[in-house]
Formats: sequence, C-alpha cells, structure tokens
Amino acid sequence: MKAKLLEGKVLAEKIKEDLKKEISALNKSITLAAIQVGENPSSEIYLKSQKKNAENLGINYQLLKLDVTTKEEELLALIDKINRDSSINGVIIQMPLPAQISRQKVIEAISGIKDVEGMHPANLGQIILGKPIFIPCTAQAAFELVKSTGVNLYGKEVVIVGHSEIVGKPLNLLFLNEFATVTVCHIGTSQAGHLEEHVRRAEILVVAVGKANLIKGDWIKEDALVIDVGINKVGDKIVGDVEFGPAAERASFITPVPGGVGPLTVTMLMRNLVKAVKLQ
Ligand code: NDP
Repeated sequence: MKAKLLEGKVLAEKIKEDLKKEISALNKSITLAAIQVGENPSSEIYLKSQKKNAENLGINYQLLKLDVTTKEEELLALIDKINRDSSINGVIIQMPLPAQISRQKVIEAISGIKDVEGMHPANLGQIILGKPIFIPCTAQAAFELVKSTGVNLYGKEVVIVGHSEIVGKPLNLLFLNEFATVTVCHIGTSQAGHLEEHVRRAEILVVAVGKANLIKGDWIKEDALVIDVGINKVGDKIVGDVEFGPAAERASFITPVPGGVGPLTVTMLMRNLVKAVKLQ
C-alpha cells in the first residue's frame, strides 16, 4: 500500500491530552446533556462513545431519554429549561427525531452558546463569516485530519462529495476560508454523469455520502489526500464510500473505515464543549 493511513484515533488522543489540561485549568464542573427521543439502535454506539469520552475527561454526561411519543412542545420546553440551567454547559440532540418533531425547530431552540454540535443557524453563519465558534463535529474532524498532514490548502483543488448540513456544506466553507478551490458534488453531479471527472481532479477528496464503493479506486488522482467519511455495513463488515484497496495504491494519505474520521468526531464534540464552558 502506498498511502499513509490517517487514523483518527491517534490525533484524537493528542487532542484529548490538550483538553485534559484545559479542563484542569478551568477547575470547574462541566456537564453535557444528551437528549434521546425514542430508542434508535443506530445511535447506541455513538451514545456509548459520547459517555465514555466525556467521563474519561471528567465531564458529567447526562442522558435524558424521552418517550417516542413525546410532543414537540414538550421537547422544546425541556430545551428551554436546559438553556436557562447554568449547570449544563452543552446539549446534543440524538438524531433522527420522531416524525411529530421538527428537527429544525429543535436545533433553533438550542441556545447558540450551548450548541456544541454546531448546528444552530447562528453557528453555521459564523462559518460563512470566517469566524467559526462551534463547527459541526464531523466536518471539523475531517478538516483536522486534512490539516494534520501539514498540507498547504492555498489554491488546492478540493472536491467534496455530499452536501449535507453536518459535513459537506460546512466543510466547503472551512476549505474556502483557507483559499482552497472547492467543488461540491451531490446527487445532481452523479445523475448528470460528472462525478468521476470531478473526483479525478481532486488533490484533496472528501467523501460523505453513505454508499459503499461509490468512488472507484482508479478515479483517485496520484498522490491525492483522501478522507472517507462514509460508514456502510456490507455483510458483517463496515466500509466507507471509497474503494479502499486500489485508492490506497494511488493516494498519498487515506483514512481507513472504520478508524478514520469516526474516532475523531466525538473528540471534536468535547473540544466544542470545553470552548462553550470558556465562552459561558
Ligand atoms: P446525508 O444522507 O445527509 O447526505 C448524503 C449526501 O450524499 C447528500 O448530500 C446526497 O445528496 C449525497 N449523495 C447521495 N447519493 C449520491 C451519489 N450517488 N453521488 C453523489 N452524492 C450523493 O448523510 P450525512 O452527511 O449525514 O452522512 C454521510 C455519510 O457519513 C454516511 O455514511 C454517514 O453514516 C457518515 N457519517 C459518519 C460520521 C463519522 O463520524 N465518521 C458522522 C456522520 C455521518 P442529495 O441530498 O442531493 O441526495
């Protein structure tokens, strides 16, 4: 294999060591509240990881489990209570929410200063202004991995596949703010038959779609830096969106799946939380 592996775990450990020092210097109790409405097997792993990461840093983790029949106004009232509770420093909402609750209304109800997932419109707006406060954790994790290689982003051809609000859109702005030239691809790009030609140009490629092997290994530009955010279950294996084997023969750096972006995402949540405590 030619490419160097970009393992999120290694970077996460380094960042957590710094966070430990910052938390110790703050010398105060920190609490993260997580709200889960109904049971969702797919969020269990993420919940466990949040709890473990928080506790390892000495952060109180409060999981607030609500019934699947919870009404929107009940959830909004709980968020309002958390917003006014100075002992709670950050709040996260496990997605997806049941159909009777508007995701957007809930996100907008969270106090911008406790929005450690970086999903509030005010926080997303700060990224457009080039003055981010809380960046969505997955976008931040992908960006940190790119920066950890020491690459100079100025003028680089960056191609992002996937334009979701938690990954593709904020990442687009993070790269743009560093003067990279960014192309964002999505379902329209694929349907118009243009995905391959864009990917072939990418000096830095970030893929966040959720379709196994969407990006063929031989599309990867020689020495490209490849960040695969996708998580897909194929049989009993977890794979990304990029055909890993052949891609790793062409790329200079590549993230493994699992073990790439994933382990760093929760660390970014903790980093946002420590920032929130300082701002509060
Ligand atoms: P979304 O479903 O919100 O977004 C997927 C994006 O891919 C959309 O912009 C969609 O476009 C686009 N898309 C779909 N099909 C194609 C195609 N054939 N060609 C090009 N673009 C396409 O997903 P998320 O952003 O939430 O997550 C993406 C992946 O990342 C998932 O596999 C998820 O599990 C994983 N993930 C990993 C995390 C981690 O920590 N490692 C955290 C969060 C997510 P359109 O909307 O126009 O259809």
